[in-house]
Amino acid sequence: MTLLSPLPAASTPTAEHSPAGAVLTIDLNAIVQNWRALAARVVPTECAAVVKADAYGLGAQWVAPKLAAAGCHTFFVAHLDEGIALRRILPPPARIIVLHGPMPGTDADFTAHQLLPVLNSPEQVAAHAAHARSLSRKLPLVLQTDTGMTRFGLTLGELDQLLARDALAPLDVVLHMSHLACADTPSHGANAAQRDAFNAVRARLPGIPASLSASSGIFLGPDFHFDLVRPGAALYGVAPRPQVPNPMKPVVRLSGRVIQMREVAAGTAVGYGHTATTSAAARLATVGVGYADGFLRSLSNSGAAWYGGVRLPILGRVSMDSIIIDISALADGTLAPGDGVDLLGPDQDLDALARDAGTIGYEVLTSLGTRYERHYLGA
Ligand SMILES: *Cc1c(COP(=O)(O)O)cnc(C)c1O
Repeated sequence: MTLLSPLPAASTPTAEHSPAGAVLTIDLNAIVQNWRALAARVVPTECAAVVKADAYGLGAQWVAPKLAAAGCHTFFVAHLDEGIALRRILPPPARIIVLHGPMPGTDADFTAHQLLPVLNSPEQVAAHAAHARSLSRKLPLVLQTDTGMTRFGLTLGELDQLLARDALAPLDVVLHMSHLACADTPSHGANAAQRDAFNAVRARLPGIPASLSASSGIFLGPDFHFDLVRPGAALYGVAPRPQVPNPMKPVVRLSGRVIQMREVAAGTAVGYGHTATTSAAARLATVGVGYADGFLRSLSNSGAAWYGGVRLPILGRVSMDSIIIDISALADGTLAPGDGVDLLGPDQDLDALARDAGTIGYEVLTSLGTRYERHYLGA
């Protein structure tokens, strides 16, 4: 009895007699290889790593130290509490940048934990400058401008006003950043427009290192690299360019365990709401993964599990803790209770599962719950 279907990697753990409904295997070495590949692509630009949302659900406490050991120097998180948690396991000189910047009243936390805030608005700049004055110190920070995403950052007009009032004087801007809205669509005109707008802002901030691109932007070419790139998703195996084969190494494997199997006649209704009915006699298996595990309910009647290269369609609705799959395509006796079928693996990557779920690989990844038994390769 094997938990995982046959696959090329020799390092796959077998977890026979595991108490969990599903096993998530996270390959830390593949994350490092992805970071190295991106870093090599952008030389001499610095390659940071985005580890927000617990490293896209994969465990920042595992991922960040591994990347730091590989030579990554700069890490991005979204919220202050993520930064505080990361600082506990990632001491200086590693740089930790908090994308959302300070909420009112939290400026002192950034100094206390040696975190770099991204200042996104005139209000954040004013509050942080006041904090710097109260300490009689120049405080390092990252300044974000909005070049066309309309989400975070100062407008050009706001920046000019701040510069005219010398409002940045108490602050030490160590990085200027902006974010691309359409980088996964290389032909989109917004990319060049944002790059040109970014260059116009850079002219106002002479000598300050600059960063524009996340995973997809890296592939738009060297004129999008500037001094630092900030990949997240590509590190974790999501395709940075949906239009071409994925150059990144797969990082996650999700194996759901068969709990029960049954043979049913044609015309048998299956699952909640009877949204599926077998069109012929079939063999079905119930697998211990559901939407409470982050296995998206939109995969009802649309997604599939895989076993040894064979597609096993999901029949009926995804339940909270289980799915029902049609295993008729496998020879009788191939699977036994306790065996694993792949939900993410060599036959079905994050992006493929995302397509069946009507979403993007990012959401599949960040939804992977805390309920799976986790195996870290390369820990
Ligand atoms: C999330 C995020 C990134 C990383 O984006 P990916 O597409 O996952 O590489 C980079 N920069 C900012 C501002 C972000 O919010």
